[in-house]
Amino acid sequence: MLFSTDDGQLLEHPHLRMAAHNGQDFVVPAVEEMTALPPKWEIMQLPDTFPVGFDPVTGSFEVVDSVPGLRGVRPRAAAIHPPPGHVRQYLPAADYLPFTAPETAPLRIVDEGGMPGRSGLPLWAYTAVGWARGSVMAAMFQGDELSRWHPSLFYKDELPTRVDARLREDPDNPVLLQLRECAVDYKCCCAQNIFYGRWEGAIPMAPACNAACLGCLSKDAEWDAPTPQKRLKFSPQGEEIGRVIAFHLKHAPEGMCSFGQGCEGEPTLSSDALVDSVAFARRTQTRGIIHLNTNGSRPEVVGRAAAAGINSIRVSVNSFDEPVFEAYYRPRDYKLADLYETLRVARDAGLYKCINLLLWPGWTDTRSELERVSRLVSDGLLEMIQLRNLCVDPAYYEKILPKQRERPMGLRTFVEELHRRHPALRFGTFNPRLAAEWFKETPPWVADAR
Ligand code: SF4
Ligand code: SF4
Repeated sequence: MLFSTDDGQLLEHPHLRMAAHNGQDFVVPAVEEMTALPPKWEIMQLPDTFPVGFDPVTGSFEVVDSVPGLRGVRPRAAAIHPPPGHVRQYLPAADYLPFTAPETAPLRIVDEGGMPGRSGLPLWAYTAVGWARGSVMAAMFQGDELSRWHPSLFYKDELPTRVDARLREDPDNPVLLQLRECAVDYKCCCAQNIFYGRWEGAIPMAPACNAACLGCLSKDAEWDAPTPQKRLKFSPQGEEIGRVIAFHLKHAPEGMCSFGQGCEGEPTLSSDALVDSVAFARRTQTRGIIHLNTNGSRPEVVGRAAAAGINSIRVSVNSFDEPVFEAYYRPRDYKLADLYETLRVARDAGLYKCINLLLWPGWTDTRSELERVSRLVSDGLLEMIQLRNLCVDPAYYEKILPKQRERPMGLRTFVEELHRRHPALRFGTFNPRLAAEWFKETPPWVADAR
């Protein structure tokens, strides 16, 4: 068992074993459920928590508020955010303090039904860590390969020069100016690809949304955890967007342009600009993928975008169980039924269809959820599941979810069972690379599991 001290040291507990949380209960993870961290990967302290460990003598889980031999040390739970391409299996085992601890940060949960006093945690996918086989390990498994996403491929010294060169070609384009901010200030990999002139590039264009997700990355969380990437504040015109798409698809190897890539609003709400930009780009560029990430609320706009020339779609969803979906998304003017309709429209238009499944241990990995997802595949509505770790404060999410009556099977088992039923269904954590044959590859962990 590893824990953090208040002053940020990471220590091993003298006799307790590591515990984790499967979304419903504390568990002792098997070492096979753990993966070693890459070198220098950051480990976080969870403020306002006590860690929970497993006592092998009593066979019980214990909240650790002091450690033998370490007088005056206040232990805290430790966690990581999974490295790219990795999927969280378990949450950290933690006792979240009753939020009146004197050391709480100035950030407070503000809604009335919240947990008064405790600081909200920033939007990371908190994952359990422990010590085994001589290294720090995390409760996660590999979900994709990194040949286009390894950190060594980004943040190069030449980036500012490339940004300047690209902007000289289209100096007043507000989409390019936004992308400069995204690439340089937010260090967004998809924005950097626009300037490196390669692979998948993001096309930010949507300032508004019709949902209010708890873990929205482009607006500050209601428990006051600030988002590092602010949503754009303007609505670019179709032609301004289309110029960026056309240029990228013309020049980039394996060129792909993606709307709604993570920290903007909902692209289908800017419907005319979306459709016009695709039509503009397709007038000159038939090569390359134009991809739409959406919350699935506007099936009719997806139909128009498909007719204009998009190739693929990814619908984000945390659950196909309506109360769980509503609790997280808090959709303003649409229902889960619209997501199904979006996928049907996409299927009928011949688009490649993914979902961005926002995984939460104990909720995604139930038998009922597996059956719902499996039915989508059987109905021809789904070719790929992107396994996305939901980033939200664990105690806060638990508080707003309805009562769970089903036992979890474990996320890896959930994925393996879907893979067994639907061998052609692809899994990953990124949008597929352009080459159509790559869609059929299975990620390494699936090969491992065979
Ligand atoms: S649908 Fe996307 S943009 Fe809208 S609130 Fe949710 S995460 Fe944010
Ligand atoms: S994903 Fe976010 S940071 Fe990246 S280009 Fe889009 S809006 Fe900008």
